[in-house]
Amino acid sequence: MIVVMAKDSTADNLRQVEQRIAAHGLRTQVNRGVERIVVGVVGAIPPDLKDEMELQPGVAEVIRITKPYKLASIEFHPERSVVMVGDVMVGGPEPVVMAGPCSVEDEEQMVSTARAVKAAGAGILRGGAYKPRTSPYSFRGMGLDGLKLLKLAQQETGMPIITEVMTPGDVDTVAQYSDVLQIGARNMQNYNLLDAVGEIDKPVMVKRGLSASYEEWLLAAEYVMAGGNTKVMLCERGIRAFEHYTRFTMDVAAIPVIKRLSHLPIIADPSHSTGKWHLVTPVALAAIAAGAHGLLIEVHPNPDIAKCDGPQSLTFENFSKLMDQVRAVSAALAQ
Ligand code: PEP
Ligand code: MN
Repeated sequence: MIVVMAKDSTADNLRQVEQRIAAHGLRTQVNRGVERIVVGVVGAIPPDLKDEMELQPGVAEVIRITKPYKLASIEFHPERSVVMVGDVMVGGPEPVVMAGPCSVEDEEQMVSTARAVKAAGAGILRGGAYKPRTSPYSFRGMGLDGLKLLKLAQQETGMPIITEVMTPGDVDTVAQYSDVLQIGARNMQNYNLLDAVGEIDKPVMVKRGLSASYEEWLLAAEYVMAGGNTKVMLCERGIRAFEHYTRFTMDVAAIPVIKRLSHLPIIADPSHSTGKWHLVTPVALAAIAAGAHGLLIEVHPNPDIAKCDGPQSLTFENFSKLMDQVRAVSAALAQ
């Protein structure tokens, strides 16, 4: 449920509304928009709360949000959310490209990639230290040593870092070394993990589960937001379908659908969705044309010897070409 405050309502009116809601054991989240202040009510709403709220001084309107996700919904927050990552604006007018290797391997790989993707125009550096691998025998990441190399690459280039966190117990450590915590597709419904990242004050990117519906995905974002962390972005990374030529199937429609249902920024990952480097650029351009706020792209100095996801990784040269084309499509859209 949302309580819309009247334009001429006072700070006292708002305080009183918050107190009445708290008296029912419910939590509130206040969204101060340009046009109006909206109070989101979080929790199991008692049937007569709507009537009670409508009688409060300074209240213009009380609206039940019928969707199961509330804080993530466009009804709660009609203006698009922007998530600041350092001074990089995710969800603003310019698409933000997050680029780097699938996994952190060594200092030279990480620092050279950071320099190359920065020079080509990427805004955020990626690299996995904790890797969710389908097989337990695959390379599962360098862990804390990998986080340290990410920090080093940040010191060298000034780029903010995005990296995956897989367990609630690692959240604080990963948050110390990074600027955005990634929830991987395989952990989208790891509710203890979603609760844990909901308690921190750092941006979180929730990747879509391999077979998740839009509603399930938005409810995963809702978990993080219900914990108090509103700095959430989503990432479409392809879903399971019957075609095996591509690794997954990129759901391009997810981009405009999410923008219709939610105010959260939506990023597209053409690397994991296609699994093949030569498909990354065309699918990236389709995602930008469909309105994505950014891209997640795997880049490696030498994809042939990458410890993880080499076949879908771009060389520095191909990444630079992708960036030129992304700029061209964005400029065309802005006209
Ligand atoms: C990744 O981004 O490194 C990754 C493992 O992606 P996903 O969770 O989408 O498979
Ligand atoms: Mn990968």
